[in-house]
Parts: sequence; structure tokens; C-alpha cells
Amino acid sequence: MKKNILDIIDRVDSIYENPKCELNFNSNYELLVAVILSAQCTDKRVNIVTKFLFEKYNTPEKMITLPQEKLEAIIRPCGFFHNKASHILECSKDIVEKHNGKVPSDKESLKALSGVGEKTANVVLSMAFNVPAIAVDTHVFRVSNRLGLANSHDVLHTQKDLEKNVPKDKWIKFHYALVLHGRYVCKSQRPLCESCELSSLCKYYKNKNTK
Ligand code: SF4
Repeated sequence: MKKNILDIIDRVDSIYENPKCELNFNSNYELLVAVILSAQCTDKRVNIVTKFLFEKYNTPEKMITLPQEKLEAIIRPCGFFHNKASHILECSKDIVEKHNGKVPSDKESLKALSGVGEKTANVVLSMAFNVPAIAVDTHVFRVSNRLGLANSHDVLHTQKDLEKNVPKDKWIKFHYALVLHGRYVCKSQRPLCESCELSSLCKYYKNKNTK
């Protein structure tokens, strides 16, 4: 089992040599806002919205000058705009008042911000501060359980399985590789197993073909 896991990790490494986050951002604050907006929304759509939003409101100080209704109108295409606007304004206010206008770099402070849960905190820690962390989004959850890198029905246990099975120095890169694999190959409804370079190591694929 362990050998299979190590083989998967090596194969993923060789397929995705330099995987990157597909959200556009120019600062830690822009990253945080983009990740909040990306819940239940595609990165592509978030990038369209943030291109406009960040032209004027790219710092927490500027963001909190926006009335909530105006922010809601700008971010409406991302869905859940009422909640997202209120989280962005609340967390921007906290960043200004409690963190000197800077996004905090520790998990506890990040998770104390409005709208920031385990996944968002882990994305910010790894992308902004290069702290090893695995954020389990819908793609990472699906791909890691299909491959057999995790064996769980919930996100938190999947994160624990991945933290146990994947060497810590590979967490950041591996997370982005799984996101890309889930987005473009191991799709939710119709995984492209026949063209997937991981099929010979995949638990889901083996099970499907032995039925
Ligand atoms: S073989 Fe199919 S299920 Fe397994 S990782 Fe590839 S696409 Fe996903």
C-alpha cells in the first residue's frame, strides 16, 4: 500500500512539474479575497470579478470604504454575494484594526477572520507564506479518495490522511497538482480515466475494471 502511495506521489510530481494556483493576485490581501470569492465558484469567474474589484479596492483600508451593497453588486457573478461581501468587509476591518493592515501569517489568526475556514487558511498559508499546508477543496477531496491516497467521506479526515501519506516538503506542490488533475482530468461526473496517466495506480480505476 505504502509503495503504491509513493508511486502515485512520484507520478504526480512528474506529470505536474510546476503546478500553480489559477487565481490571479498581486498581494497576500488580494489572494485572501480571491480565495473567499472562489467558494462554489470557478477561478476563471473570480479572476474576471477581481480584475475589476482590485483596480480600486486592493487593500483592506480601501475595501472597507465600500458600502456593502456596492461590493455585493461587483461580486454578484461569484454567487453567495451577500455572505461573501459581508465576510470580505468584516475580515478587512479586522485586518486593519487587529493586524496593522497585513494578512496574518499564522493559522489561528487567519481562522479567526470572518469567512476564513480551514481550507482558506491553508491556501493562504501555503501560497502567501510558503508554509506547508494541504487545503482540501472539492477537487483534492475527490481525486485523493479516488486514487487511494485518502480513505474518507469528509474533508477533515481526507486532509489528515494526506498529511500522513504525503511527505511534508511536497504538500504545497502536491495540493496544486491534485487541484489541476481534478479540474482537467479526474472530473467529478466523467473522469477521463482512459487518458489519465495515473490510471495504473488508481484505486477507483482498478475497482471499476474488476467489477
Ligand atoms: S484513473 Fe480516473 S479516477 Fe483515477 S485519477 Fe485518473 S481520472 Fe481519476
